[in-house]
Amino acid sequence: MMPRVLIVEDEPPMRIALQDILTAEGYRVLTASNGETGLERAIEEKPGLILLDVMLPKLDGYALCAELRRLEIAVPVLMLTAKAQVRDRVTGLDSGADDYLVKPFSTDELLARVRALLRRTGGKRRAVTALTLGDIRIDLARLTARRGRGTIHLTSKEFAVLRLLAEAEGEPVTRERFLDLVWGHTAFPTTRTVDNHISSLRAKLEPDPAAPRWIVTVHGVGYRLESGRAILHNPDNSGAGLRQNAVKENEP
Ligand code: CA
Repeated sequence: MMPRVLIVEDEPPMRIALQDILTAEGYRVLTASNGETGLERAIEEKPGLILLDVMLPKLDGYALCAELRRLEIAVPVLMLTAKAQVRDRVTGLDSGADDYLVKPFSTDELLARVRALLRRTGGKRRAVTALTLGDIRIDLARLTARRGRGTIHLTSKEFAVLRLLAEAEGEPVTRERFLDLVWGHTAFPTTRTVDNHISSLRAKLEPDPAAPRWIVTVHGVGYRLESGRAILHNPDNSGAGLRQNAVKENEP
């Protein structure tokens, strides 16, 4: 059964376009034209994903998202922001949104983000809480990293970079995405900042930083975690224990 997607968007042309795109892909679509109705439908209809505009009458996207999280409704939220609201993306993250799409966006990009969010969350919001890389155990909730009995000192930014890589489940993460979600454009870092943090992480974690096994460069794109070697521990899955991607290991 295809998931149900709730579109909360006040501008009719955008709402209809989104509805058409998603319906054509087989998703079941619900709509709301203001924040108040959006919140009601999110609570009553339990959609699998919400596409949420920021500027909305009655209740804006941030307030709506924050209210959902306050009510412990864990539906994944993809926020639609205008180009001029780049700084607001940080506000959106704080309000509990899972991802962002900057208007105008292409149909392909929209659908890719929707699929990624639904796949990543299995229709539910799930945070990666721990990561195992060889003999290194990284606790992303307590922000600790250990190799055997030894502690590895990572900075908060390095933990955030690892978390983003882990949550992408082996898919590449672009430098721009790191900047958006880890740095939030507050300190005006450059893509070089991302590269420096990756180098530092490799120096601390990789057996041979010059030939990385885990934090792999995807040329022209960014970085990805070699997921065949990463075990993602997931709170929703804790009975089943460890989730390991079905990516074949490239043993030498
Ligand atoms: Ca709007």
